[in-house]
Amino acid sequence: MDSSNGTPIHPRYSRQILFNGIGREGQARICASRVVLVGCGALGAVQASLLVRAGVGELRIIDRDFVDETNLQRQILFDEEDVRAVLPKAVAAENKLRVVNSLVKVEGVVEDVNPSSIERLLGGFDLIMDASDNFDVRYLVNDFSVKNGIPWVYGACVGANGLTFPILPGETPCLRCIFENKPPAGIGMSCDTAGVIGPIVGMVASMQVAEAMKILSGARDQVSRKISSLDLWINRHEMVELPARSPECPCCGRHEYPFLDGMLGADVTTLCGRNSVQIRRQEGTRVNLDAIARRLGPLAQLEQNKFLLRAVIDGYQLTVFSDGRAIINGTYDMGVAKSLYARYIGN
Ligand SMILES: [Zn+2]
Repeated sequence: MDSSNGTPIHPRYSRQILFNGIGREGQARICASRVVLVGCGALGAVQASLLVRAGVGELRIIDRDFVDETNLQRQILFDEEDVRAVLPKAVAAENKLRVVNSLVKVEGVVEDVNPSSIERLLGGFDLIMDASDNFDVRYLVNDFSVKNGIPWVYGACVGANGLTFPILPGETPCLRCIFENKPPAGIGMSCDTAGVIGPIVGMVASMQVAEAMKILSGARDQVSRKISSLDLWINRHEMVELPARSPECPCCGRHEYPFLDGMLGADVTTLCGRNSVQIRRQEGTRVNLDAIARRLGPLAQLEQNKFLLRAVIDGYQLTVFSDGRAIINGTYDMGVAKSLYARYIGN
């Protein structure tokens, strides 16, 4: 331990302390910080590994999904043994990271982040990292972050394409200043319909963690005030100006938090006795069933009429109605159903 200025810091962090931007004081701040990761798929696996190695004090990893073999191409924390054991990602990640850095309190939590659980799961942390795969969670996290003054770092990728920007509540534009409303259900591409390559995941997650390290070490003035947008296949790297913070922004301007109140998110209920879960969208939602059918065509067995689209996929039966409502047959688990909905129908 090096405690020359009264703050004991483990020698394993010497290369970060030598780095001018962080130094001893910055490292001490990182070591005292508490970070929560929302999701632990591809982005989350890279983020979790970098954050634990960087020496955050505590990392909570929340994920509602299990490891499957199609994850291994890019979710670098997981291996074939996790697939065989059907381990929840949060548990597999915790197991791996505990032996990477025993100084960090790593906690895997197998749960769904939703309006009822978010306060309990994210409350009291210094920073929220977005490694989710859907907009329901991102808009919910944004409401929570702004209401509680906790910074968060947005990250998303699909194909060879990625986007990331940090949100410092009260200081930089929030998600709703940038995209006031969620993209309509059925429009958004996801990794499960459009694919994704590992390198873009590594890039976006690494950029997110660099912003996290600035925020946690106290280098707030270095935090990016732009959107980083990349496409590794067509060789495009751009820093896009953020819009100005809007006093009319429903979230950070008017301080309305409808996602936290559960008003604009997905409404999920289990259907008793039918081994099914129903997901209902907000009033007035319309989805384009033809567009969904075109996306799912190569992946699923489909039946369609003018009222609904039925897809048999991964052993589940998804029935989608044109108002965005879906019945997912083959499970009682709301987390599984929401994850199938986000994957195959849209966010
Ligand atoms: Zn805002």
